[in-house]
Amino acid sequence: MAAPWRDVVRDAAAVREAAAVAVDAALLAGGLMRNLTAVLHPCLQVVNYAPFTLLPSAVPRALFEQAYAVQQDFNLLVDAISQNKEFLEQTLASTIKVDDFTAQLFRIHTQVLEEGLAQTVFLGINRSDYMFDCGLDGTAALRQIEINTIAASFGGLTSRTADVHGLVLKVLGKTEEASQLLPNNPAKGLALGIAKAWELYGSQRAVVMFLVEEIQRNIFDQRCVENELWSRNICVIRRRFRDVFEQGSLDASRRLYMDGQEVAVVYYREGYVPQNYDQQNWEARLLLERSRAVKCPDIATQLAGTKKVQQELSRPGTLEKLLPGHPEAIARMRATFAGLYSLDKGEEGDRIAATAIADPDRFVLKPQREGGGNNLYGEELRQVLEKIKDSPERTSYILMDKIKPQPALNYLLRAHSPLQVSECISELGIFGVYVRQGQELVLNQAAGHLLRTKTIEHADGGVAAGVAVLDTPYLV
Ligand code: ADP
Ligand code: MG
Repeated sequence: MAAPWRDVVRDAAAVREAAAVAVDAALLAGGLMRNLTAVLHPCLQVVNYAPFTLLPSAVPRALFEQAYAVQQDFNLLVDAISQNKEFLEQTLASTIKVDDFTAQLFRIHTQVLEEGLAQTVFLGINRSDYMFDCGLDGTAALRQIEINTIAASFGGLTSRTADVHGLVLKVLGKTEEASQLLPNNPAKGLALGIAKAWELYGSQRAVVMFLVEEIQRNIFDQRCVENELWSRNICVIRRRFRDVFEQGSLDASRRLYMDGQEVAVVYYREGYVPQNYDQQNWEARLLLERSRAVKCPDIATQLAGTKKVQQELSRPGTLEKLLPGHPEAIARMRATFAGLYSLDKGEEGDRIAATAIADPDRFVLKPQREGGGNNLYGEELRQVLEKIKDSPERTSYILMDKIKPQPALNYLLRAHSPLQVSECISELGIFGVYVRQGQELVLNQAAGHLLRTKTIEHADGGVAAGVAVLDTPYLV
C-alpha cells in the first residue's frame, strides 16, 4: 500500500510540533474520554483525549468504496437473520449447549417469541469491520472481520478525528492532501435512524432511552448521538439495567415506562458481554425485550451478530437461503468473506482443528464474545485448541483465517505515552442503519465510517480495550 507520509514520518522535529498541535486540536474539538479517576470520583471532571494517530492512514480507494457499497446488503442480511427463527435455532444449537451467555440470550429470544412480539418497529445500527488483506503479489483485498450488531461505538468521536488530521497535515505542509480528507459524521446517521424509529413508534411524549454502562468512560461518544436527537426535539434519558430493574414497568399493552415516562426506543450501549449481567440485569433485559418499545438491537438481532452465525454465513448456500432473490447482494457480501470454519463435533471440525494445531499462524480462534481481547492467536491458539480438541468446549469457538495487512509507519498519540514511531495496521468499519415497520424496510443506509489503527505487536483489541486508536482514512 502507498505510504503517503514517507517524507515527514521520520522528521523528529516536525513530528513533535505536529503532535502538540494535534493533541490540543483533539481536546478543543471534544475528542474526549473520561478517565478512570473521573469515573470513580465524579466530582473531578477529569478527561483525556481519546487516543488517535498522528497521521491519517492510507486506505485503497477501491476497497473503501467496496465497503460502503456492500453495507446496505449487510443491513438487509442482519435484518433477515433476526426474523429467521429456524436459522438462529439451528445455527446456535451446538453453541448454546456449551456457552452460557449465548444460551441465556437465546432463552430470552425464545421466551419473547412464545409470548408474541409486541414490538412492530425495528431499528438496526451496526458496524461492519474490515481489514485489508495483503496478497502474495502485494495487492490488498477487503476482508470482513465481523459485524457488530449491538453497541457499535465511536460513531460520534470519529467525526472529530478527521478535523484534527486536516490540521496536522496543514502543519506538516500538506494543505492539498488535507483538503482531500472526507467529511464523516456517523452520529448524525445513527440519530436519523433512532429518530425515524421514534417517529414510527408514534407517541410525541415518549422518550429515547440510552441503556448505559455502570462505568461510563466513553460517554462523549454517546453524547454526540444524544445531542443530535435533542436538536430534533426528541427527549433522551440515560439509564442502567439496574434502573430498569428498579423503575421499569409495562402496561397492559406492554408499553414500557421508566419513572412514569413512556419509552419509544431503547438504544443499548451495554449488554453485550457476560460481565454486564447479574440476575437482576437479566430480568431487566427480559422486561425490555417483552416491551413494545423499539429495541436497538432486539435480542434476535444481537444473536445475528454472534461469531457462530458469521461462520455459518460463509457456508455455501446459506446466504441464498437467507436472501432468496438477491444474487447480486450475495455476491457483494461473499466477496468480503475470509475463510471461516466450524469447530462443531465431527469430521469437518476434527480436520480443521488438526490443521490449525499444525499451523496456528494461519488462523484466529474466536469464542462467542465481543469487545476485544478474547481471541487467541499463534502459540496460545495451538495450546488451547490442543487442550479442548476432544471436549465439547471446542464448539463454543470458531476458527477464522488470519488477515495479514501491510503495516505502515505512524505515531499513536495516547495520554501519558511517549511519542514513538510504530509499525501499524488499520481496521475500517462502516456504520449501517435501517428501520423496518412490520415487513417494510423504510430506511436502509450506510451512515459513515470509522478507522481504527493499532501497532502490529497487538493481535487483538479495540479502542475501548486500550489497544487501537482513532484514525482517518486517506484514500489512495
Ligand atoms: P470483538 O468482538 O472482540 O471485537 P473481533 O472479531 O472484532 O472481535 O476481533 C477483535 C480484533 O482482533 C479485531 O479488531 C482485529 O484487530 C483482530 N482480528 C479479528 N479477526 C481477525 C482475523 N481474522 N485476522 C486478523 N486479525 C483479526
Ligand atoms: Mg471487533
